[in-house]
Amino acid sequence: MRTRLIKLFAMLSILKILYHQGKQFIPNVRTAQVPGIFRGRPVISTNQVNETELVDLCPMNAISSNPVSIDLGKCSFCGECALKFPEKITFTTDYKISTNERERLIVKEGDDFAIEVNPATVRSEIRKIFGKSLKLRQVSAGGDNSCEWELNAANNVQFDMSRFGIEFVASPRHADGIAITGPITQNMAKALEIAYNATPDPKIIVLVGTDAISGGIFADSPALDRSFLENHTVDLYIPGNPAHPLTIINGLIDLTRKTK
Ligand code: SF4
Repeated sequence: MRTRLIKLFAMLSILKILYHQGKQFIPNVRTAQVPGIFRGRPVISTNQVNETELVDLCPMNAISSNPVSIDLGKCSFCGECALKFPEKITFTTDYKISTNERERLIVKEGDDFAIEVNPATVRSEIRKIFGKSLKLRQVSAGGDNSCEWELNAANNVQFDMSRFGIEFVASPRHADGIAITGPITQNMAKALEIAYNATPDPKIIVLVGTDAISGGIFADSPALDRSFLENHTVDLYIPGNPAHPLTIINGLIDLTRKTK
């Protein structure tokens, strides 16, 4: 009798924990809401401001003038521009900012529309072959472990990217493509090329984070060798510094499958 009571209390205790925790995964990663402090796609108003001052304050050289625009491939999402010029720049919580076209990452004043993958320019074999299963080999090419950490988070119990058949594998020989993080240092340039060449065709290239897309804050460093990107076609740009798991997952889904 005593043993039964102990088991009953143990079970009730577990049920209590499960009740308090609720669902541990995000049921719908396409519509999930993120906290208001998150900085996603910016919106630039047509209000007149001192554009020289605005351009000069950006530590990443991501802002251009006439018309004012922000290049999300360079932006670190530090928020400084929105803090100093709130009447000109605001950041929405829109995390769906991945695209297959580099120029779509440039948000101009007056723009307030989604940044999307353009299905017309996605290589036809990508959706045909990787529409239900995509295995990626991650290559940290001088990364600072921030985007790498978020890629890891994309596969944790909360974001659960593997439910869409998208996973990371240990060997490029078992992969359908590579996901590159970091600004691509000289020391990693050859290793990146080797990993890419070891991946069987057809394969994709995904750039994850500001550093990978533009070199980020290291863009002018002589320690970089970004020639890999001159020799190969990039299939997906996932901006962020670091990229958010929801940006990563939605970008990969939009690239590989037809969605509404
Ligand atoms: S949020 Fe982006 S555009 Fe604005 S100041 Fe920071 S790096 Fe520059």
